[in-house]
Amino acid sequence: MGATVLVVGEQIDGVLADTTYELTALARQIADGGTVVAAGGGPGFESAASAIAADRVCVLGGAHMNDYTPEAYVAAIGALAGDCGADVVLAATSAVGLDTAAGVAAALSLPLVSYVVGARPEGGALVTTSQLYGGKLLAESEVGGGRAVLTVIPGSVSGDAGRGQAGAVESVAAAASPGRMTFRTMIRPEAGGVDITKEEILVSVGRGIENQENIELVEELATAIGGTISASRPIIDSGWLPKVRQVGKSGLTVKPKLYLAIGISGAPEHIQGMKDAELIVAVNTDANAPIFDVADYGICGDLFDVVPALTECAKANA
Ligand SMILES: Cc1cc2nc3c(=O)[nH]c(=O)nc-3n(C[C@H](O)[C@H](O)[C@H](O)COP(=O)(O)OP(=O)(O)OC[C@H]3O[C@@H](n4cnc5c(N)ncnc54)[C@H](O)[C@@H]3O)c2cc1C
Repeated sequence: MGATVLVVGEQIDGVLADTTYELTALARQIADGGTVVAAGGGPGFESAASAIAADRVCVLGGAHMNDYTPEAYVAAIGALAGDCGADVVLAATSAVGLDTAAGVAAALSLPLVSYVVGARPEGGALVTTSQLYGGKLLAESEVGGGRAVLTVIPGSVSGDAGRGQAGAVESVAAAASPGRMTFRTMIRPEAGGVDITKEEILVSVGRGIENQENIELVEELATAIGGTISASRPIIDSGWLPKVRQVGKSGLTVKPKLYLAIGISGAPEHIQGMKDAELIVAVNTDANAPIFDVADYGICGDLFDVVPALTECAKANA
């Protein structure tokens, strides 16, 4: 008999997150003929519930489920995991998933396996693959008895098998939150006239650029090809570009026609925000940089040679 796998669904601004479908697809593999249950709260989850290909989709009701707080989600998901006899709980490697998974693992006394990119049942155990050090290493782990909470890196599994028709959609009263935390308001960064999520060409700069003065080189290339400059997080954290230019998990998700990654290693948190670009071109001196795994074209070379050459070429062909 297969396992029961509980998926922690997520919504952002009333829209179901793609990770919900990805986790459901992975849950089906882990369940191995058992039951897949998906759960979540808020209007975005409720409206999309019937399109999640789980055997049961539980819409967690209660005003405290509309806007995320860690303690409300830990209480609700933990209680549901107990009620449905979940062997495995899957959450995304996301702000919501990370703290929900940790809290649920602690509440249920289950091991937590993080940064998972794949998992399968094997002889009563659960075998997981995790991505470490920004994708440079993979670690395979075995959870004896097959019971665990997993956080799964977004985009590591196709969500196709997670889309479809739900077996049953149920309204479930979410367990009460301890009530120490209350969501007040979402503070969004000021747009400052630039919205990188709407741009067709992004030239993104990473730590390989070395210092703020050198960013001018990348700006020249962006201008020459009619693009806009964006960046990885260290560039924003250093104060070299404003937060509205940040691509990635704690920045913005972009889907331009062309994404040029200049001196960016390709950490999972960055990839999460740009993997769906139509065409990805990466420039990096390290042939083993994970960015090359998602790039359509890769230039293994020094950006201080490659970027001026590309700019010159673009100007010559303008
Ligand atoms: C909770 C959390 C959220 C995060 N959110 C984000 C996020 O939203 N966005 C984000 O980007 N990161 C995010 N990060 C950080 C992320 O883990 C990485 O640290 C970050 O993406 C690395 O940025 P980078 O690729 O610019 O720098 P590095 O990893 O330092 O890579 C620099 C790259 O430049 C290359 N290089 C060096 N010199 C040259 C040269 N002369 N020519 C060409 N290539 C060169 C190097 O080979 C290297 O691959 C987050 C981390 C955490 C824990």
